[in-house]
Amino acid sequence: MSLLQVSAIEARYGPVQALFGVDLDVSEGEVVALMGRNGMGKTTTIRAILGLTPVSSGTVRFAGREIGTMASHRIARLGIGLVPEGRRCFPNLTVEENLLAAARKGRWSRTAVEELFPRLRERRDQYAHSLSGGEQQMLAIGRALMTNPTLLVLDEATEGLAPVIRHDIWNVIRKLKDEGQSILIVDKTLSELLPAADRCFVLEKGVTVWSGLPGELTPELQDRYLGV
Ligand code: ATP
Repeated sequence: MSLLQVSAIEARYGPVQALFGVDLDVSEGEVVALMGRNGMGKTTTIRAILGLTPVSSGTVRFAGREIGTMASHRIARLGIGLVPEGRRCFPNLTVEENLLAAARKGRWSRTAVEELFPRLRERRDQYAHSLSGGEQQMLAIGRALMTNPTLLVLDEATEGLAPVIRHDIWNVIRKLKDEGQSILIVDKTLSELLPAADRCFVLEKGVTVWSGLPGELTPELQDRYLGV
């Protein structure tokens, strides 16, 4: 049974319709890549799953419950942890305070997160606003893990980060996958994303136009849908 099942969802920003029929699903322990060119609806799909943008049509089921009309804080509490685009943390809290503010019982404690990201341990008492972009992304992932989510959702996991930091973050994503963490991920680095993913969904103009195994996403399909 799917952990997350998104069926034919539509969503709009006021008069502007952004999603016209998105289907995707994530099974337990799976890493699923959500792909598509800029502006095709990836972030809106994630926002709709999290209840941050209203779903005007279609259904979203998570862990056997319909969540399409639920408030975002309730959805988060059911076990979806979001690492949003732009790596938002509380700028005026320290690294430690940011982590503890998100804490819920489970495998991921502050110590466990610091083991995963030793840089966060080194910067434990530093204010989040004084961290580098890469460190802020580590903190954003750490915060999402501290909620002990059943499903971790990463929007633009490594965008705009230095190569060495990207490398660290991909290593962490692979570690989480090996542990059986269910993950829905958006990222533009296909050379890292495709080997990490179990399945892929491609959006075009707010519609799911292709889904399959990473190995089935041929150079022709990549060219057609992703423009690479
Ligand atoms: P990117 O890779 O650039 O982040 P994306 O695939 O995540 O793109 P979305 O950000 O979901 O795409 O955007 C989907 C569509 O919705 C686009 O046409 C975009 O212009 C529109 N859109 C996004 N946010 C808003 C908003 N706040 N108000 C109006 N339209 C929006």
